[in-house]
Amino acid sequence: MNPKYRKTVIAGNWKMNLLPSQLKDYADALKELLGREHPCEAVLCVPALMAIPMLRYLRGSRVGLGVQDVSAEEGGAFTGEISAAQLKDAGVKYVIVGHSERRAYHGETDELIGRKLRRVLEAGMTPILCVGETLSQRDAGAETDVVRTQLKLALAGLDAAAMRKTVVAYEPVWAIGTGRTAAPAQAQDMCREIRAAIRESYDARTARAVTVQYGGSMNPANAAELLAQPDVDGGLIGGASLDPKKFYQIVEAAKI
Ligand code: PEP
Repeated sequence: MNPKYRKTVIAGNWKMNLLPSQLKDYADALKELLGREHPCEAVLCVPALMAIPMLRYLRGSRVGLGVQDVSAEEGGAFTGEISAAQLKDAGVKYVIVGHSERRAYHGETDELIGRKLRRVLEAGMTPILCVGETLSQRDAGAETDVVRTQLKLALAGLDAAAMRKTVVAYEPVWAIGTGRTAAPAQAQDMCREIRAAIRESYDARTARAVTVQYGGSMNPANAAELLAQPDVDGGLIGGASLDPKKFYQIVEAAKI
């Protein structure tokens, strides 16, 4: 728990990178660097195929295991899909929902993302709900409306207790995988806006409790300044999380 009275969560998003044969070396290196105590919650969202072996390799550490997607369906005849119950049973704790790459390449709608988010919560895991505007939306001055609408649609009908268990990641699409990071003030402004939207839909206690991450080209050089912003409670890290040393350095940068 940080002085902001909410959990700081640094989550790696490996996307479709690395191989099962590389997991042990990665996990050994990260465990050695991190030790048993770290200043915040560290999570690795790996390809679902790698969740079970990675859990085994991470044994003895406090790193949480996550994946990058889940089915909106409960179970049954949905070829190629993985259910929330299956992930939970495998030991998964975090699930990313609504990543901009799934919105863009798989046509995921806010409504579908909301259904996935509920499945994750019902199964007793933590969803990381990604929201964020494209460059053209920011250039048009529409970023706040875009993010507020994404939140409103994905969270529709969710009660306050479930909201408090949800992590929100502000990920401006123009900063993902581009090397172009949001300025700390831009990250802070939108994370504060997200908290304001939660306060309006729920209450001050809930808004204070929700972890709001920033994601978009975060790396060891820029992490400390981003994470020092009052409404930025962690990071969702793509490229830099593929290197255990860089991921460790970002976890360490969360020391406040
Ligand atoms: C992401 O994909 O969630 C992300 C933030 O990627 P990167 O850190 O590579 O920009």
